Amino acid sequence: MRVRSGAQAVRGRTLFYFVIFSERVIHVLEILKGNIVYAPALGTLSTVEKGYLALRDGTIEGLYQDLPAFYKNEPVTDYGDKLIMQSFADMHLHAPQYPMLGMGMDLPLMEWLSTYTFKTEARFKDTDYARRVYRKLAKDLITNGTTRVAMFSSLHTEATWILMEELEKAGVTGYVGKVNMDRGGDTVLQETTVESIRETLRWLEGCHFEHIKPILTPRFTPSCTDELMAALGKMAAEKQLYVQSHLSENTGEIALVKELHPDCQRYYETYAKYGLWKDHTLMAHCVHSDARERKAMREAGVVVVHCADSNVNICSGVCPVRQMLREGIWVTLGSDIAGGALLPMYQVITASIRASKTRRMMDDWQMDFITVAEAYYLGTTSGHKYFGAGDGFAVGDKLHAVVIDDSDFTESTRPLTVAERFERAIYMTQRHNIVAVYSDGRKVVG
Ligand SMILES: [Zn+2]
Repeated sequence: MRVRSGAQAVRGRTLFYFVIFSERVIHVLEILKGNIVYAPALGTLSTVEKGYLALRDGTIEGLYQDLPAFYKNEPVTDYGDKLIMQSFADMHLHAPQYPMLGMGMDLPLMEWLSTYTFKTEARFKDTDYARRVYRKLAKDLITNGTTRVAMFSSLHTEATWILMEELEKAGVTGYVGKVNMDRGGDTVLQETTVESIRETLRWLEGCHFEHIKPILTPRFTPSCTDELMAALGKMAAEKQLYVQSHLSENTGEIALVKELHPDCQRYYETYAKYGLWKDHTLMAHCVHSDARERKAMREAGVVVVHCADSNVNICSGVCPVRQMLREGIWVTLGSDIAGGALLPMYQVITASIRASKTRRMMDDWQMDFITVAEAYYLGTTSGHKYFGAGDGFAVGDKLHAVVIDDSDFTESTRPLTVAERFERAIYMTQRHNIVAVYSDGRKVVG
């Protein structure tokens, strides 16, 4: 026990006080019961039928088939026959493109950007509009079980703070970046170099959110002058910030980058020469990265965000994910809203599997496709590890989980194993099947 005493002047009178502090910290214990599913390694699916997850203050303390006696008096949340699975991490999406979801899908990347995207993003100068769209996006993410994100905002500072606030309120965690772009955005969406740097610094100063942190976000090389790239590289080093951007998505884009940087042999060098190609740099797509570029990823600790649905929608290509995994590259998944038209990550996972099967057929059946268990790992554990999490439902991690009620799926011909039910859940879940979501140890849905 500690005692603190003192005196304080209140309205001209002096009050004497003492306060007694208790050294005992109250811990909240909770046990979740249900069919537990998680992916501790690529291609490994672990299940515990009618098992228990013990949480202390939202942190995983243990995972058990039979509940140990010392927990027997603790409160149990019994999810019955439902599935308790790891929640999802969406490692690449554009929040201000949410209003144009499912539009312009017949255009290639550069035309798609100038016809739809830049005009849509320009609307986010209006903070009321931003508030309405971002509130809906945050709700749609969390109710679909996406609890961690790495997200692009627009170039607008105020709207970016609004986005961070709405994600925080909804229970989504992760990184958000104010976009930098000082060329190529026509007149509708562009900053000067000086504005871009000044606004990024102002934005960083205003980021005081508990669960949503800033990440530097040069849109991509065609949108950023050398001077801006150099300033962002310096900022990343000085302020120890992570970086996210795009790489080798589309052949037209790659040709443009070559024109802009004739001194660079490969696209990645345009980031590397300004200090933006480094440990934990997130690079979306990487569809056309050759062996040399992939080697540079592995050596630098750059993380690939594979966005299968987007790559097919705008005919960018099919990413050689299996090859990347064989080479030891860190691969995660992203919805890439709105190049991608699927926000729920369980649908992004199945899109990734289909793309991988397409790649196998294109490569003369030489490469194995990505299995359901593997794609689930990429959409969960692999992304969660970016934020420092362990493998699967790791002891010591804050719980990130979804609870899925599959009881309205078609009656099967025989009793299914938990692993079979997991596969059905990945392919067939709709939002209403997700009955609870835990994010950073807190129950945020249900
Ligand atoms: Zn993107």
